[in-house]
Amino acid sequence: MRYSKMLLPTLKEDPAEAEVISHKLMLRSGMIRKLAKGIYSCLPLAQRVFNKVQQIIREEMERAGAQEVTLPGVQPSDIWKESGRWEMYGKELLRFKDRNNRDFCLGPTHEEVVTDLIRREIRSYRQLPLNLFQIQTKFRDEIRPRFGLMRCREFVMKDAYSFDVDEDAAQESYNRMFDAYIRIFERCGLDFRAVEADTGTIGGSFSHEFMVLADSGEDAIVSCDSCNYAANIEKAEVKPPDTDIDNETLSRMKEARKVLTPGKKTVEEVTDFLKIKPDRLVKTLIYETDKEAVAVLVRGDHEVNEIKLRNLIDCNDLSLAGDDLIIKTTHAPVGFSGPIGLDIRIITDNAVSQMCDFVTGGNEKDTHLINVNLGDFKVDRYADLRVITNEDPCPRCGGKLSFKRGIEVGHVFKLGKKYSEALGATYLNARGREESIIMGCYGIGVGRTIAAAIEQNHDSNGIIFPTSIAPFQVMVLPINMDKSEVRDKSEALYISLKDEGYDVLIDDRDESPGVKFKDADLIGIPIRLTLSKKTSKDDMVELKVRRTQEVIMVKKDDLLDEIQKYLQYS
Ligand SMILES: [Zn+2]
Repeated sequence: MRYSKMLLPTLKEDPAEAEVISHKLMLRSGMIRKLAKGIYSCLPLAQRVFNKVQQIIREEMERAGAQEVTLPGVQPSDIWKESGRWEMYGKELLRFKDRNNRDFCLGPTHEEVVTDLIRREIRSYRQLPLNLFQIQTKFRDEIRPRFGLMRCREFVMKDAYSFDVDEDAAQESYNRMFDAYIRIFERCGLDFRAVEADTGTIGGSFSHEFMVLADSGEDAIVSCDSCNYAANIEKAEVKPPDTDIDNETLSRMKEARKVLTPGKKTVEEVTDFLKIKPDRLVKTLIYETDKEAVAVLVRGDHEVNEIKLRNLIDCNDLSLAGDDLIIKTTHAPVGFSGPIGLDIRIITDNAVSQMCDFVTGGNEKDTHLINVNLGDFKVDRYADLRVITNEDPCPRCGGKLSFKRGIEVGHVFKLGKKYSEALGATYLNARGREESIIMGCYGIGVGRTIAAAIEQNHDSNGIIFPTSIAPFQVMVLPINMDKSEVRDKSEALYISLKDEGYDVLIDDRDESPGVKFKDADLIGIPIRLTLSKKTSKDDMVELKVRRTQEVIMVKKDDLLDEIQKYLQYS
């Protein structure tokens, strides 16, 4: 490809609209341009990267036995009503009517469509297992699209769906996809972790997220230094306390009594006032669900993990109660809630089971209780309800946990029968009995993978593409283009590298060396070959490795070997 002919509009300055580095660099390197909020055009440089990532995905999906299809982006509401998600999905689902006034949506995901296809085509266990994948544009009307391709509304996704006869076979399909994902992200040159994750709105029973490690990541993850446990912080289990309160402590427990705490409402205010540490206080939080109000107790220095709570009490809506409900439930102003005397369910975090003589709200204005003990109120249930902290050990082996930030680029789910039962996707087993198909689904955000790769691979001068997904492997950069000798040798080198099968970009623009070098660093091609008046006289080429900044002079005859060597390591 010739730079002079390519639509490659680089920018000198960081665009004001971009907050994260990948967004800045994708705009500056002329990879993407915004059309509307969260909707981007992908220019030739980016398209080449997309093609490479998609090729890796295709190869690995096919190696794992999946078959490529293309499912419609425009989807009728009927199948979404059958799955129950037409009502549940909320405003992220972009809905519209066709000329016959029938409801449609732009597909944010394809469980309904693929399950509809399968229920029509699969009859017998002999047709299973089956795994279908596609690489396609999806639309989710995100409330706050941001960070360029990291969180946009229209995006390219690889999604795959597996169909199996039973749980064991479904687990095998899941494992095959898990292994394929490991290979895909390794081949893309990414530093990532597969972490246990919550199943979210897609539903299902079990899932892993693939997280590219980056400080700018929106997700917090924990991973064990000693074993292979890793989880999204939303999901990370807290190891239950392994000792009970001993009898001696029990015998020394005191009687609860009121203390006046005028105007002291927050954990900080109350513990400062009473001159105790926050871990001596139990917070009482009133939550409202679509069914009931519940009280949730956690230690003062701990935070409720609302995803764990939602999973535990199995409700659709869950939120902290508003002031009116708190006042109605506790008969006290906000800030003085406590468990004693409450007539709603009380759910308590495991850590509280270790506490004695603690402080709670008094359910009375300006009042707290001290020396409260677990026998003073009725706990309906103890459970793991809190956000893991850096004082917690690994829930599997007790080892030390590390906290990191990650960008979710892939997600694998075991869906079970959620969609096959809702839409009636069944097969006849060997005994002629009708059974529901067991499903799994597997996504990769292609654009987000590219953005994550840039978050992880850049320096102050620009992008440093991993070789496997770089838009070009080699860039030929002639300076002193006005000298016919330099121009001819550069052209000859460009042609010969192309003949050898390399992706090559030649910067044949009539620009100053400074501009050319700056653009070359910005667009991050792994190897830059510079030809000048001087090098062409000696029949040498200057080779610069983008990742290491290493510059070496190479004899023309050794050039192919050197390029091969450096491409392997960058
Ligand atoms: Zn561990």
